[in-house]
Amino acid sequence: MNTEGTQEAQAAPGTVVVIGGGQAAGWVVKTLRKEGFDGRLVTIADEIHLPYERPPLSKAVLAGDADIDTVRIVKPDEFADLNVETWQPDCATQIDRAARIVKTREGREVQYDRLVIATGGAARRLPASVAKTSHVTYLRTLDEAVALGERLRASRRVLVVGGGWIGLEVAATARKLGVEATVVEGAPRLCARSLPPLVSDFLLNLHRANGVDVRLNAALVSLEDHPEDASRVRATFADGSTLDADFAVAGVGLAPHTALAEAAGLAVADGIVVDEYGATEDPNVFACGDVANHPNAWLKRRVRLESWANAQNQAIAAGKAVLGVKAPYAEIPWFWSDQYDVNLQILGDLPADAELAVRGNLDEKRASLFFVELGHLRGVIAINAARDLKLARKWMSQGRAVDLSTLTDTSKALA
Ligand SMILES: Cc1cc2nc3c(=O)[nH]c(=O)nc-3n(C[C@H](O)[C@H](O)[C@H](O)COP(=O)(O)OP(=O)(O)OC[C@H]3O[C@@H](n4cnc5c(N)ncnc54)[C@H](O)[C@@H]3O)c2cc1C
Repeated sequence: MNTEGTQEAQAAPGTVVVIGGGQAAGWVVKTLRKEGFDGRLVTIADEIHLPYERPPLSKAVLAGDADIDTVRIVKPDEFADLNVETWQPDCATQIDRAARIVKTREGREVQYDRLVIATGGAARRLPASVAKTSHVTYLRTLDEAVALGERLRASRRVLVVGGGWIGLEVAATARKLGVEATVVEGAPRLCARSLPPLVSDFLLNLHRANGVDVRLNAALVSLEDHPEDASRVRATFADGSTLDADFAVAGVGLAPHTALAEAAGLAVADGIVVDEYGATEDPNVFACGDVANHPNAWLKRRVRLESWANAQNQAIAAGKAVLGVKAPYAEIPWFWSDQYDVNLQILGDLPADAELAVRGNLDEKRASLFFVELGHLRGVIAINAARDLKLARKWMSQGRAVDLSTLTDTSKALA
């Protein structure tokens, strides 16, 4: 076998079943074959497309600048070489761990030696008590992105519910398409769960400067068909104010697909509980990607990450572990977003009580925010500063001490 990591003596699995057809599932399959697994490999996926990457869905795909061929994880002919039985579109409906059998909606069943659950999640829905119209859409899949792009191009004004990453990227793409956009956010600031106030304010200014009507502390109480034009939508807020749009897009978080695992008696606590190898408490069952909750060495706590890098690299570790190769997933969490002319990247941890060194100027849309604890970097937010982030990643991996005055001195290049 073609391995990096510690090999454990155990019988090679005869059949590996992967539930899910997203980025993590794609990387599990690739990893298994790369590591030399030549047994039966079955994937069960409920989308019609072979595994693809989702980040472009709210960016280039939505804008009409990219399509399925640019987002695939494996080209169709290379996928054929992987010799995978793809059961799709189908949906795994039950895992019988005692018999090691997965059953599907189409009535098929397969016995596994090892099972990987890479079921990701679905866009969280607005409560039915709020969304009483059919003119509200969500964005998680390629088909949804294509349909949303077409709808945006046919519209004059979109209402975006939720000032998180997906909502803000949709608003930015809408503006690029010349569509008027309003973003309503119930919290007092944007991306409040993942960003410090300084950067929330930066994003607020960025969107307002690009013509987005951003409303914070906006408590949405209902979304209904417009009383005079049922093809449009009207939003009503707790203060009695209303807002009309052609349609609404809600970006209000992700609901991880954990029901299958939970019904099978696996531990679930904000995601399927796994170790640093993607293993659940059942030695034959693994999980990875958006659906998995793992102990993160850098954050020093358990976490369920929703990021491209996690979906790929945790899947690689899980794929190896399925074959008994112990290569722990121990990456520093990394996420990026593209909005207008801004590339924003977040690496590591951003403790509220860390010392903050700001290099560059947020008003000029080029800055790095370094979060320092006991003379060492814990995390960084890089705004149009990919080089700083790359250096920070190196220093963090090396455990190198940093000096605040050096970090903020833009007269000298960081090295
Ligand atoms: C619009 C958008 C933009 C993003 N932008 C960024 C970005 O800029 N940067 C970044 O770092 N990350 C970004 N992400 C996050 C990143 O794409 C995800 O973290 C990643 O796709 C997770 O991959 P996954 O395979 O774990 O889950 P998913 O991609 O959700 O794949 C899971 C698949 O399994 C299927 N499935 C679920 N249950 C079953 C079942 N029972 N049977 C069969 N199939 C099932 C699902 O339908 C889905 O196709 C973005 C995500 C979205 C949606």
